[in-house]
Amino acid sequence: MRGRHYNIFIITEKNFYKSFYLSDRTIFSIFLFFSIITTLAIILFIYNTNVSITEMKQNIAEEQHHEYLKKIAKLKNQILELKTQLQNQIHFDNKQRNFLKMASIHPDIWSMGIGGRNDYKKFANLSFYNRKTLENLNKDIDIMKGQLTLRERSIREIEDKLIQKFELWKRIPSINPVPGSEISSGFGYRVDPFEKDVRMHEGLDLSAPKGTPVYATGDGVVIFADWNIGYGYVVDIDHGYGFVTRYAHLSKILVHEGENVKRGQMIGRVGGTGRAICPHLHYEVIVAGIKVNPVNYISFKDVVID
Ligand SMILES: [Zn+2]
Repeated sequence: MRGRHYNIFIITEKNFYKSFYLSDRTIFSIFLFFSIITTLAIILFIYNTNVSITEMKQNIAEEQHHEYLKKIAKLKNQILELKTQLQNQIHFDNKQRNFLKMASIHPDIWSMGIGGRNDYKKFANLSFYNRKTLENLNKDIDIMKGQLTLRERSIREIEDKLIQKFELWKRIPSINPVPGSEISSGFGYRVDPFEKDVRMHEGLDLSAPKGTPVYATGDGVVIFADWNIGYGYVVDIDHGYGFVTRYAHLSKILVHEGENVKRGQMIGRVGGTGRAICPHLHYEVIVAGIKVNPVNYISFKDVVID
């Protein structure tokens, strides 16, 4: 069966025309041809677009990876800095504890830190390299956290020790009770000014005009403040740790029994009460019930704080 056919006329402005004879098949072929071309063009466009998207994705991924590496490198540097600072702290901790005669913390304990470990399973979906990198960084951070906790505890211990030492330092007799006075009679055997025979002088005589201020030589509690035959007006201070000081021949007492006194606090005035020929302070230092030479407790350098 013959198919239909078409005459196509082309008319120009000058009435010139041409005619074409086209069969169904030819028209179909032309359509087919253009359809194939169009389809190919679309396929090519899609393919090119896909390539571009893939490339873009790769670029983004590379860029992101690059950024990630940069961030990791920065993090590593920061951790390294912190590690150095912590090492300095550990070194300082050892020095402080040595100085205060405290047992130092063993290096193994420092290197482990203390406290719990994190669960690193959260990195399981990463590549091996990334997982290892992040795991190592996290381990470093965990160790440092532990070390910081340890250092904090150590600082508290050091602080307690310092407070103890400071408490002891405040209490141990360690100044001249009559600054600027002269030693008129030392500690030891001497000819007694009253009896004229050799007797033990159990204190230090500090010569000063009557009324000169007398100061407590360390923090403590007044355990006696009254008249005592021989000593005249006398003040006894208990400093704790086995230390007692005695201030005798006073012309005036300025404290009362049970009163807490501080080092350098004025407790009385020099006089010549009791067995005294002229105004002076008879000063005694008693350690664990034994009278010792007060000279050793006047100068700071002789005071042992342990
Ligand atoms: Zn004396």
